[in-house]
Amino acid sequence: MSDQQDYNCIIIGAGIQGSFTAYHLAKNNKRTLLLEQGSSHGQTRIIRKAYEHDFYTHMMEECYLLWAKLEAEANVTLFRRTGILVKGPEDDVDFQQFRSILARNQVPTEILGPEEFSQRLPQVNLLAGEWALMDTTAGVLYANRALRAVQRVFQSEGGVIKDGDQVTDIQPGSTVTATTATEVYREESLVITAGPWANTLMALHWTTNTTTVVMINVCYWKEKVPGTLDISSRNPCFVQLGVEGSQYHFYGLPSNEYPGLMKICYHMGSETEPDESDQQTDRTDVHLLSQFVSHYLLGLEPEPAVVERVCTLSCCLQVTPDHHFVLDRHPHHNNIIIGAGFSGHGFKFGPVVGKVLCKLSLGQMPSYDLSPFKIQRL
Ligand SMILES: Cc1cc2nc3c(=O)[nH]c(=O)nc-3n(C[C@H](O)[C@H](O)[C@H](O)COP(=O)(O)OP(=O)(O)OC[C@H]3O[C@@H](n4cnc5c(N)ncnc54)[C@H](O)[C@@H]3O)c2cc1C
Repeated sequence: MSDQQDYNCIIIGAGIQGSFTAYHLAKNNKRTLLLEQGSSHGQTRIIRKAYEHDFYTHMMEECYLLWAKLEAEANVTLFRRTGILVKGPEDDVDFQQFRSILARNQVPTEILGPEEFSQRLPQVNLLAGEWALMDTTAGVLYANRALRAVQRVFQSEGGVIKDGDQVTDIQPGSTVTATTATEVYREESLVITAGPWANTLMALHWTTNTTTVVMINVCYWKEKVPGTLDISSRNPCFVQLGVEGSQYHFYGLPSNEYPGLMKICYHMGSETEPDESDQQTDRTDVHLLSQFVSHYLLGLEPEPAVVERVCTLSCCLQVTPDHHFVLDRHPHHNNIIIGAGFSGHGFKFGPVVGKVLCKLSLGQMPSYDLSPFKIQRL
């Protein structure tokens, strides 16, 4: 057991947000400890500027720069540009919001009318009244590789990672105490970036908690005729809005995890507890996806070839009611910082989320308006 102050800051959770927070703290010459209980992560994540809120599009400007900086520092490719197709009924509110935000923020965008669309993507069904936009800046992030890269740079800056070290208790105070099975740490500040487990940790010193954890079935789909729709080399990622009977959007990525199989998912799943998610057997999202694929992606078999649902972390999301993040100080304990509620779209923001959480833990003013991310709104 050690109870002297060895570090300036402890971070709980070495996912992308905790790892980037650690990276920025180490670059600010802070002695930083990153604690991880042990987990797995997905291989690919979409990165895009196309959003339905300006503040996310603004943050993405800096994210792209910082991802490129990490690629250079770690000497590794983390991003493949594919573009992203945003498709939906022209009168859909979300679709209009995407369109005006792309235009207002001068994001390089192509507009595909019905004729051009069917020429470029003949296997994809553009329904009557639908339009499509292409955010040409978008693409795929290699998530596992990115996580390893940011942790490697953090360690090269003197940072320490302890894997297999689960924090079981936090005691607030002028120094914060974090307890694991083998150690008791007392440090100036603490950052909680525990993903789906954030609720468990926050429940220790929390008043209300309205975030939920959901498990999604990650589905991979096979082409009817190999090579006709495989979007691995030619075609973009996509977001489909405004599908009748579905509250949330569908999205897809070029094949990567399984050769020739496209990853297509629904942006919502079934409520669960992170440690009990293997008991969640609901397949509502798979059913919605099958319907979606058979109506919109005519070149694919309408049943998934692979469904990843053994709940590893790569299938679980922590969701806030408004689907916006939590980036804030604990309301009663200034030296406890929370990065949570990434609601299934946080990976791409890792570099800027980490910078914001770093600034909060140093008592500095972040350069973004954090009002959409305040914990009090929950
Ligand atoms: C299927 C799927 C697809 C997605 N697609 C996209 C996408 O296309 N684009 C995008 O931007 N985002 C996407 N996301 C969302 C994105 O992956 C998450 O928002 C992001 O990974 C959250 O990162 P995090 O660091 O907050 O959490 P996590 O990655 O969940 O990391 C939290 C870490 O904390 C550790 N931990 C928890 N409790 C403790 C404890 N007590 N002690 C020690 N360690 C602890 C956990 O083991 C875990 O490793 C997707 C998510 C899923 C599940």
